[in-house]
This record gives sequence, C-alpha cells and structure tokens, in this order.
Amino acid sequence: MKFTALTLETVTESGTGATEFSFVPKRPLTFRAGQGGLIIVPGGGAKPFTFVSDNRTGHISIATTLQSGSRFKRALAGLGIGDQVHALGAIGSLPSLDPAESQVFVAQGIGMTPFLSIARSRDRLNATLLHVGAPHFFDEVARATSGNAEHHHHRESLKEAVRRTIIDRPAAHWFLSGRPDFVAACAVQLADAGLPARLIHKDTFWGMRTTTPGYELAHA
Ligand SMILES: Cc1cc2nc3c(=O)[nH]c(=O)nc-3n(C[C@H](O)[C@H](O)[C@H](O)COP(=O)(O)OP(=O)(O)OC[C@H]3O[C@@H](n4cnc5c(N)ncnc54)[C@H](O)[C@@H]3O)c2cc1C
Repeated sequence: MKFTALTLETVTESGTGATEFSFVPKRPLTFRAGQGGLIIVPGGGAKPFTFVSDNRTGHISIATTLQSGSRFKRALAGLGIGDQVHALGAIGSLPSLDPAESQVFVAQGIGMTPFLSIARSRDRLNATLLHVGAPHFFDEVARATSGNAEHHHHRESLKEAVRRTIIDRPAAHWFLSGRPDFVAACAVQLADAGLPARLIHKDTFWGMRTTTPGYELAHA
C-alpha cells in the first residue's frame, strides 16, 4: 500500500447532490476498478473512499455527498484547486470482474461509486444495474452496462427487481454496494433464494450509519 500526495485539479457537481473531486497524484497510485483508499484531508482527518476515476488515466477521483456537514466533509468542501490531500491505498473488497461472466450490480445511493469506476475503466460491461435511493451517477453507469438498468425509489421495488433478476440471470455474479444494513439485507435475500456465497460480493461503506428508518433511501 502506498501513501501518496494528491493535488486537487477539478471539482464537479453531479446534478443529483454528489460532488466529484479529481486529483493528480504526485507518484502513480495504481488501483483495480472498485478499489479505493483512505483520504486524509488537512483539518478533516481520514475517511475511506472508492476511487471513481478510470484506472487507466493516472488520475484519482472520489465522489461523495457533502450534506452531513461533518468535520471531514467541511474540510473537503473547503479545498481549493491546487490544494493537497493524501491517499493511502489501494484498498477494497470487490474482486476483479471476469469479462466472460455476467454480473449484477446492486447499489444504494452513493454506493454507486465502485460501479462508476468499473464503468469508466472498461470498454464493455456484461452487467445488469439495480440502483435504489438518490440516483447518483445512475445515467453514466447505465450507459456502460449492456444489460438492464433500473432505478428504484423504494427498497420494496428493488427487492422485487432482485427477485426477477435472480431468475433472469441465474449464473451471474452479484456485486452489492452501500451502507452495511443495505448490503447485509441484499446478501440475505440472495442467500435465501439459494445463491451460493461464491456468487455474492460485498462492498460495505461501513462509515455510513442509518440515522432513522427510511433515511438512507431519501438521502444516500
Ligand atoms: C470501502 C469504503 C468505501 C467508501 N466509499 C465511499 C464513496 O465512494 N463515497 C462516499 O460518499 N462514501 C464512501 N464511504 C463512506 C465514507 O468513508 C464516509 O463514511 C461517508 O461519506 C460519511 O462521511 P461523513 O463524514 O459525512 O459521515 P459522518 O459525519 O460520520 O456521518 C455518518 C452518517 O451519519 C448521517 N449524518 C451525519 N450527520 C448528518 C446530518 N447533519 N444530516 C443527516 N444525516 C447525517 C449520515 O447518514 C452520514 O452518512 C466508503 C466507506 C468505505 C468503508
């Protein structure tokens, strides 16, 4: 794992309430699409983020929401172009994708970021996309997937879509990303439907708590 200085190059608003920060690393920071690192911001501390850039470009980008107003997010929002942060990486639990296999991506809100990086880093994807909550980067990832892409506002309709997709894509590998309670609930649904553990891959954003029931769908 490397500790690398990153210089902020651009800040882009997504239109759905997410902000993307793109940095130039001082030394090359290689990562597999879907991995990320610990980002250390002066005055804000350190938090883990998925790198959302195309891993062939040499840039390092992260995407997040700033609404919590936490010390970390205030420090991040206060960065100017040319300011420096540090990254420790690469880390991440998602395996690399086998292009010969079919995949199903299931994301909650900003949990879309591993799939954004995968979409940007590959020329072609044999994947179905199921997204619930705030539609961060849905359009961009949907364009990159060759299979069905659905956005859902409610957990119940997502569950129904998962049910249908299990039948439609019986041999698919499932990639789950979002808050811990969301990822755990999806994994239970898949296991209960008889999917073997080797087909279920989890990326848990463990820093993100669910504050009140339903909050995660409205604001994630
Ligand atoms: C492997 C990994 C990858 C990750 N990748 C990403 C990523 O790509 N993008 C990303 O955004 N996050 C990612 N995270 C989560 C990230 O590290 C932070 O935990 C997350 O962004 C929340 O940071 P915060 O400072 O806003 O949270 P905190 O201030 O610690 O708050 C935690 C949660 O409390 C709630 N909350 C706190 N204050 C308020 C408020 N005022 N109003 C409403 N709700 C509130 C929110 O649900 C918030 O998410 C990842 C985590 C892991 C482990």
